[in-house]
Amino acid sequence: MTTTGSPHPRPVLKSSTYDPEHLPADFIRYVKALQAHAGHEPHAYRLARALQMRVRVGLHNYCLPEAQPDPLIVLQPWYFGWSNDVLRHELAHIMLWWSGLESHVIAIYGPEDGWSIVERLCQQAVAFLHIPAPMLQNAVRLHGVSAQAVLHLQKASGASLSTALRRLIYDTPDAQRAGFITSGAYIREVAQCNLTLPFGWLERVPEPLTRFPEASHVTTVRLHARSMVGVRAE
Ligand SMILES: [Zn+2]
Repeated sequence: MTTTGSPHPRPVLKSSTYDPEHLPADFIRYVKALQAHAGHEPHAYRLARALQMRVRVGLHNYCLPEAQPDPLIVLQPWYFGWSNDVLRHELAHIMLWWSGLESHVIAIYGPEDGWSIVERLCQQAVAFLHIPAPMLQNAVRLHGVSAQAVLHLQKASGASLSTALRRLIYDTPDAQRAGFITSGAYIREVAQCNLTLPFGWLERVPEPLTRFPEASHVTTVRLHARSMVGVRAE
């Protein structure tokens, strides 16, 4: 459970010039810049310290980006002091506030839809905070944009397979990439960036490869007898 990032309501600005289409890409670009500044630290707690965020223990998970003298993240005791996605999510809230984009989101979409978009942006950033750019570049150098790269990323980072898949597919906002993970005869995860898959999430697809047009570049790795990860890149 997490609370939203801004307990102090900020003034709603009239924003007519910012194109919200650019939001996810602009935010991820900013996240990557902060990571570079902090030496691409993949450990969430050490990253918070490197960016001069204070981390304390409390009853709930939340953050106070405007706290003085430095932003404050409060975590339940079992999330404190180590590297986990709850801390990464709160880190992302502070980054979004720092970026100045949060106020645009609220101004454009209003408080209700705006906060759910803020939550989605912060969830998206978790994969980027778990797998910094050099780790991604190394995987792509060794394996290309492929299913093998997803497995490499999972092993190198300790992230889940879904996180590794989303990190690879969404890395470059204008690239054409898509990927999926199956569970038995069903599609249990999809990620699509400017490229659609010939099937959808939770669809029953016993032979995913037969669904793709012949010339498409699809790589797969079997995880075990009845499950695979697949990546299509153009
Ligand atoms: Zn949140």
